[in-house]
Amino acid sequence: MDRRAIALEIARELGFDLAGIAALEPPPDAARFEAWLAAGHGAGMDWLERQSERIRDPRRILPGGMSLLVVGVGHSRAAVELAGGGRVARYAAGRDYHNWIGKRLKKLARRLEEAGLAGPWRGITDAGPLLERSHAAAAGLGFLSKAANLLHPRFGPWFFLGELILGEELEPTEGPAAGSCGTCTACLDVCPTDAIREPGLVHAPDCISYLTIEHRGAIPAALREPIGDWVFGCDLCSEVCPFGRKAPDLAERFGTHRQVAEGDLVSWLAPRREMSVDFEGSALRRPNREGLARNAAIVLGNRPRDEGRHALLRVLTEDPSPVVREAAAWGLERGHAADAGVAQALDAARKRGDWLPMSDRN
Ligand code: SF4
Ligand code: SF4
Repeated sequence: MDRRAIALEIARELGFDLAGIAALEPPPDAARFEAWLAAGHGAGMDWLERQSERIRDPRRILPGGMSLLVVGVGHSRAAVELAGGGRVARYAAGRDYHNWIGKRLKKLARRLEEAGLAGPWRGITDAGPLLERSHAAAAGLGFLSKAANLLHPRFGPWFFLGELILGEELEPTEGPAAGSCGTCTACLDVCPTDAIREPGLVHAPDCISYLTIEHRGAIPAALREPIGDWVFGCDLCSEVCPFGRKAPDLAERFGTHRQVAEGDLVSWLAPRREMSVDFEGSALRRPNREGLARNAAIVLGNRPRDEGRHALLRVLTEDPSPVVREAAAWGLERGHAADAGVAQALDAARKRGDWLPMSDRN
């Protein structure tokens, strides 16, 4: 076996479904990324701006780096819904994949070191300064779709990526994998916020995944209704993708986190929640308590029920976060405006300056 084949074999032994090698050089889509960023499509994600030099040229991440080993691991394609309503994107519903992938990348690096195939190395999961889909496509792990995700012939959109930068030269694998969206436009048609502005271009500030996970502060009023029942992330553009229909169902691999399997959005609004305990081991810790409670209030407005009304009324007066109080007011106005008690509470909130009725907004 040659050096490259040994490296790929070790990756598969450690549980990665997909593995390929790309040269450590500027990603094929570097110019597109720069234009996307310059046009404001990544607005709010300051880290992208800060890391843009390293993203454009990953050789800056690890001096002496020569190759990029890209791995893929399939995850569940089954829809996940909370008991009382509210949906969580599939990639976030189970154990935190950052930990799963991070630990295995370390093991992989150690095995490659023993085989003399690593040199200095650095492991990266999706929080790293890398245009990982572009490099993964170059390594033959799929093709970039109209929804700007990576599609693999077997796994469709339902897999995670991880990367190891290696200080050894390994011959790149064949790529990109054959495939294209053809004439399909299902993802563009289904997106409730029209965030996919054109094939391959997602305007992040309008994307529900960005809004519910990355965005801090209030969610723009016009985008709250289209969020529907997505409380963390959004899978709509992947759900409709024909490439994912025959993907293996790997629901057991990451399981379903207790807060998702048994949780209720009403409890996500509880005061002073110990988020680090309740969401231990879950990617749902990412947006912090304020973000999760804000999202829960919006979904409870879009999908009104009695328990939600009680919880929103309490939050409206008691929550320490103005962002959460304002989202609760919006949820009450959207879902329970006809209730006399709600109307009174909203009037009081307006007088306190916690909320503006829809009719008074621009
Ligand atoms: S994740 Fe949802 S909001 Fe974002 S582009 Fe896909 S369908 Fe649109
Ligand atoms: S839904 Fe259709 S257009 Fe969108 S990514 Fe899948 S194949 Fe491509």
